[in-house]
Amino acid sequence: MYSGGETEDLYQILGVPRDASAADIKKAYRQLVRKYHPDANPGNKDAEERFKKINMAYEVLSDSQKRTQYDQFGTVGDMPGGGSPFEGFGGMGDIFGDIFDSVFGGGTGRRRANPNAPRRGADLEMEVEVTLLEAATGAAKEFQIPRWESCAACGGSGAKAGTSPENCSQCGGRGQVESRQQTPFGQFVSVNTCPRCNGSGKFIREKCPECGGQGRVRTQRKVEVKIPAGVDTGTRLRISGEGEAGTNGGGSGDLYLVVGVQEHPDFKREGGDLHTRLSISFPQAALGCAVDVPVLFGDPETLDIPAGTQPGKVFTIRGRGVPRLRGPRGKGDLFVHVTVDVPTKLTEKQRALLEELAREMNVDVEDSGVFGKFFRNLFEG
Ligand SMILES: [Zn+2]
Ligand SMILES: [Zn+2]
Repeated sequence: MYSGGETEDLYQILGVPRDASAADIKKAYRQLVRKYHPDANPGNKDAEERFKKINMAYEVLSDSQKRTQYDQFGTVGDMPGGGSPFEGFGGMGDIFGDIFDSVFGGGTGRRRANPNAPRRGADLEMEVEVTLLEAATGAAKEFQIPRWESCAACGGSGAKAGTSPENCSQCGGRGQVESRQQTPFGQFVSVNTCPRCNGSGKFIREKCPECGGQGRVRTQRKVEVKIPAGVDTGTRLRISGEGEAGTNGGGSGDLYLVVGVQEHPDFKREGGDLHTRLSISFPQAALGCAVDVPVLFGDPETLDIPAGTQPGKVFTIRGRGVPRLRGPRGKGDLFVHVTVDVPTKLTEKQRALLEELAREMNVDVEDSGVFGKFFRNLFEG
């Protein structure tokens, strides 16, 4: 709640002075409605509450008779949602609640449409995982999508085969019923969802056994989806017409797949670019070599490592990354980060050669014991 129980008068709610003209009140109301309309603030409970209060305030202040009465009685207690300024005058708060719930669809901000009008099915959203390779090359994948579909047994009518739904007798098929209440401020007409048909306008005498009268059934639908090359984590793919089934002949909604790309042990992705590690031996780094580079997909790639390559050196292979879905066309690059392996196990001969190298380079190394001495003696004569 935004007001924390403090008393707020109707003029304050609209932000107008007590002597505001009818035109000023209307202008303030329009600005506030635009700002706090639930459609502009989806899921925002505070805005929804505020929206109701704005409408309640306008309901009173836009009517000269009600405004006069309100000016006379002033505010008492809290606004609806925590009491009513009209307590002692026949529970006006409740009546306002009813009015706003019915006019604004119980706080969703939408008027209830004709129950028999075609309604498009809801959109569905699902998260799907693909491997890095699938993301880079594209893939045809099959997903199980739980969704509502029109019941085939009754054709979506909900009535048992051979019968059809009747118009609801309580609301005459309109799905809504009106009720009138006398209040100190005049007669209020509130429009409510018909309790007999729950707003559908239809009454089903014999329900379809397949769907229990709902006209739709929950299914697991297999949907084959072509994942385009270049998708990344967070990419949203729209599959037209694969959402929930519509009602009364309305079209199906769309299916949105939100992609998550799995981590790869050998490649890190950065947009269109790929990074990988290549380890070479010390002699290869010192003397130069040609080595095969790991690639995610496609033809093998050979890299010429020049003599004297340092650990941490990064080589760029143009165009061996992932296709780009946005920005510059084509593929990103493959970055090869070189590490130089230090051997952890040496044969006797390797050790002797390294020790000889160390002497040649004039660097101190750990004495290797009897074999080292042996070779040292051998070379030093
Ligand atoms: Zn059915
Ligand atoms: Zn009805």
